[in-house]
Amino acid sequence: MSNSQFQPNRREMLLSAAGVSALGLTGSFAWIDSPLAGSVRDKGYYSWKVGSDIEVISIYDGIWKRDHDENFITGATVEETKDALRKAGMDDAKVPIEFAFTIVKTGGKTILIDAGTGAQLAPTAGLGAAGMKNAGVSASDIDTVLVSHFHPDHIFGLMEKGTNAQVFPNAEIMVGEAEYAFWTDPGLIEKLPEGRRGLAQRIQATFPSWKNVSQYKSDQEVAPGIRSVDTSGHTPGHTAFHLSSGNDQAMLIGDMINLPALFLANLDWQLIFDADKDKATTARKAMVERAVAEDMTVAGYHFGFPNSGKIKKDGDSHAFVPTGA
Ligand SMILES: [Zn+2]
Repeated sequence: MSNSQFQPNRREMLLSAAGVSALGLTGSFAWIDSPLAGSVRDKGYYSWKVGSDIEVISIYDGIWKRDHDENFITGATVEETKDALRKAGMDDAKVPIEFAFTIVKTGGKTILIDAGTGAQLAPTAGLGAAGMKNAGVSASDIDTVLVSHFHPDHIFGLMEKGTNAQVFPNAEIMVGEAEYAFWTDPGLIEKLPEGRRGLAQRIQATFPSWKNVSQYKSDQEVAPGIRSVDTSGHTPGHTAFHLSSGNDQAMLIGDMINLPALFLANLDWQLIFDADKDKATTARKAMVERAVAEDMTVAGYHFGFPNSGKIKKDGDSHAFVPTGA
């Protein structure tokens, strides 16, 4: 199935539903879409560089159209949420949570950073394997997997559906120390509400018995030109990855901002999925400030596609300007 069959074209919607802001009359550029969007969604990947030494391949894994509910955002009503989506030129019927993971080629290694949903989360997600194939990368090419955190949309792609067999058995799987300690604590399961126990059980049934798992610390060089950055809050050990080559740099921020249209435009809004909401908000604000000050390329796991770009000041708010825009 082609991505475009279920992926609405933001630009088309802009022209019909939100034409006024498309003309820039609000003075905002939060709605900007990249002309690359259509073609890279169809291919399922695109490549970009950090300096001359690092090649990054963004892989599109699809979308989960989440029903609105009052608990999704602390600090915003459903109406305010819909309003923010419309302002960004997006359909407001549901919350469009997209997924994109990353492959980094550096120092002769091919490194997978998070692994997508593995087609085990939403019927319209799980395109990552096809995107990797189109990009010419097979599972056996992956030397190392870096895991940002243990949420299903980031790790189910490591596990075969039904059997939990490893998808990347020959890769070294590197997980953050704090994240690993939290999720593999046997006492965790009874502390979680029933609906959330399945994830912890699946983690405990896999990672501890896999022989190819190692742990990284924060602020460690985990691969040539890649450092782990403690950005906990979303989860107890959520980690961003800083890429540097020469004078160039980029940050793979994982889930720190979630959807830019919502949480970048409104830095005080808090996300239901953030385990420690205040800590996540503080970390988010600090990262946004740094990205603007250093004019640094960022890539977000839920930023849509292309998922890399720059964060810019936009009046008294901020906007994401994707690669190619
Ligand atoms: Zn996520």
